[in-house]
Amino acid sequence: MTATPSSNHAAVYRLREVAAEYARSVPTDAFHWEAWHALSEAGLWRLPVPREEGGAGLTWTAFTEAFEAIVATLRSIGFAMVVANQATLIRALLKHGSAAQRASFLPRLLAGTPAATAISEKHTGTEIRALQTALSVHEEGFLLDGHKYNISQAPTAGIILVAAQLIDGERATTALVLLDGGRPGVTRSAPRDTLGVRDLPIGDLAFEGVPIAANQLLGPPAQGLHRLMDIASMNRAYFGLLCANVVMPFLDDAMRYASERKALDAAIDTHQHVQRRLVDIRIGAESTRWTARAALDQLVAGDPAALANCSVAKLVGARELARSALDLLALHGSDGYRRGPLASFVADALAMTSAGGTEEMHRRNIFAQMQRQAAATLEKPAVPAAPSAHPLISRSPEPA
Ligand SMILES: Cc1cc2nc3c(=O)[nH]c(=O)nc-3n(C[C@H](O)[C@H](O)[C@H](O)COP(=O)(O)OP(=O)(O)OC[C@H]3O[C@@H](n4cnc5c(N)ncnc54)[C@H](O)[C@@H]3O)c2cc1C
Repeated sequence: MTATPSSNHAAVYRLREVAAEYARSVPTDAFHWEAWHALSEAGLWRLPVPREEGGAGLTWTAFTEAFEAIVATLRSIGFAMVVANQATLIRALLKHGSAAQRASFLPRLLAGTPAATAISEKHTGTEIRALQTALSVHEEGFLLDGHKYNISQAPTAGIILVAAQLIDGERATTALVLLDGGRPGVTRSAPRDTLGVRDLPIGDLAFEGVPIAANQLLGPPAQGLHRLMDIASMNRAYFGLLCANVVMPFLDDAMRYASERKALDAAIDTHQHVQRRLVDIRIGAESTRWTARAALDQLVAGDPAALANCSVAKLVGARELARSALDLLALHGSDGYRRGPLASFVADALAMTSAGGTEEMHRRNIFAQMQRQAAATLEKPAVPAAPSAHPLISRSPEPA
């Protein structure tokens, strides 16, 4: 089947309906497995995957439209993060995986086996140069040792992508390892207690002498950091897009509230200050949405500008989401402070200040890309990038 706007539209419509069926009116502390399985069965993950790989043969644009519809319907930042992570790993496999890796992992991912991407460590979140998880050369392959900290779906993931330093004598390069979650030598913590996103199982991982065959690496270790940046970029853009969409139903609630709540017989939405708060939320969401969509298009098209623009989308999205959450709280007065959907949303929104990379990390990445662009424009040798890092990453290129 050739992807057409109408086939995209039908698929998105169906998935929106499925999401609506499972929308929760009250937030809970449990991951919404019913919604996850229903969306998986309805073919969410197959949308952007070619038919010959077991997919529906549509496009990333179709997946993006479905993602936006699901996020705006389900109202859960934690759930949306897991959807973004799963999509990121599916594209990583399609783009960088070997035929054997795709045959082994894709069918499970498309069926809804949850995936985790494990980069952060306790002391190295923003600084990937300090990554301690290591692959050491051993017999025909490697041994994996180390730990990962605050990883989404770590307690439950069936498939894990791990970023590690490959130590070969004096030389260290970044390598990406694909693992089964239940592999001997891999220990997962119970879900950790967090301020927000309480419906997202977050935990820690430990690796102790886990034997890794060379064919478990996602691509050759040389240029592993470039690969990680490409993978991370998609995650960043989808995190931006989730910020733009998840706020919309709360904005609808606030519009209704502001038209009904009266002060001295006048609805509060007659006050310019209240209107301004509502409009600012809309502006924040729309500026993030279009930045993220454009960055995703650039990434899928292979445009190098995507590396900076996916960071812009994540940075703007997280900042606008946090600001909008506080505006919503202010609009609802003490009513919003009572435990309930809005109070949970405010706590959840704050997760985006570090999940997907801190603002400082993204600024450093954007600056590094600006330096590269400036060097290329002047036809000078590339200026080494400002050292940066994590999730989902930036640093000067590794030697091949
Ligand atoms: C809900 C949630 C889900 C997550 N899921 C995942 C996941 O699935 N996979 C994963 O790998 N990670 C995950 N993380 C971890 C997340 O990626 C890290 O929290 C993030 O990268 C920041 O790292 P850190 O927490 O170690 O903070 P730190 O790096 O310690 O940063 C603390 C502060 O210091 C600043 N700082 C640190 N170094 C510098 C510097 N060199 N220059 C300027 N400022 C600096 C930071 O910007 C920040 O303000 C998740 C986090 C959360 C909250």
